[in-house]
Amino acid sequence: MSHSAHTLFISDLHLSADRPDIAQQFLSFIQKSAPNAEALYILGDLFEIWLGDDAISPAHGAIIKAIRHISDRGIPVYFMHGNRDFLIGNDFATACGCKILNDPCVIDLYGTPTLLTHGDILCTDDTEYQKFRAYIRNPQVLKQLMSLSIEERIAKGKEYRMASQEANKEKSMAIMDVNQDAVKAMLREHGVEHMIHGHTHRPNVHTIDLNGKPAQRIVLGDWYEQGSQLYCDASGCELQGLAR
Ligand code: MN
Repeated sequence: MSHSAHTLFISDLHLSADRPDIAQQFLSFIQKSAPNAEALYILGDLFEIWLGDDAISPAHGAIIKAIRHISDRGIPVYFMHGNRDFLIGNDFATACGCKILNDPCVIDLYGTPTLLTHGDILCTDDTEYQKFRAYIRNPQVLKQLMSLSIEERIAKGKEYRMASQEANKEKSMAIMDVNQDAVKAMLREHGVEHMIHGHTHRPNVHTIDLNGKPAQRIVLGDWYEQGSQLYCDASGCELQGLAR
């Protein structure tokens, strides 16, 4: 593809101290690909875990600086919370020069109204996870969580992670994917026929039947094995793997 005016979407990098190779690839993406875009959307799970804006490590600092490099060039950067980094707050956004988007939200993508979501709210077959999500994203609970010391938050994070891994062992791949009725309900509720989400790590472009008309659901890829981006311009969108 040529470098016409385009917008890039990424998600599910799961950046962590354990995977410097992914951080390196993200920094290279920021230096080489992102500067050519009109806008960059990060649709959640940029980090494997985020313990709060007051718990920033030097490694996080390098990532923030890289994102700042893009926003300083006048390229808008948008961030949506994932289920791993929902504690990202305004201090992070200010440091990066990015805007935090509500999940879900609808944008105008080259004339096509497009719904953006991280995707975990669509996994309604996983009732256990949805219960946990409703609990942990409750403003009161979030406030309590942020009032803990960083060490206590690390312990809580590990506790939740272990409980989740234990629970997921019992769950089928189908249960942890999006629910088709939830997808359609969300598209209908917002009156749109296009959706972009991440979370499931199953990159694909799906055509679905919505009220007898074709609708599109694009799933972004994770960065565990290779990088992944969605390149959209006026002629449409293309999922692209990024070799490491
Ligand atoms: Mn996720």
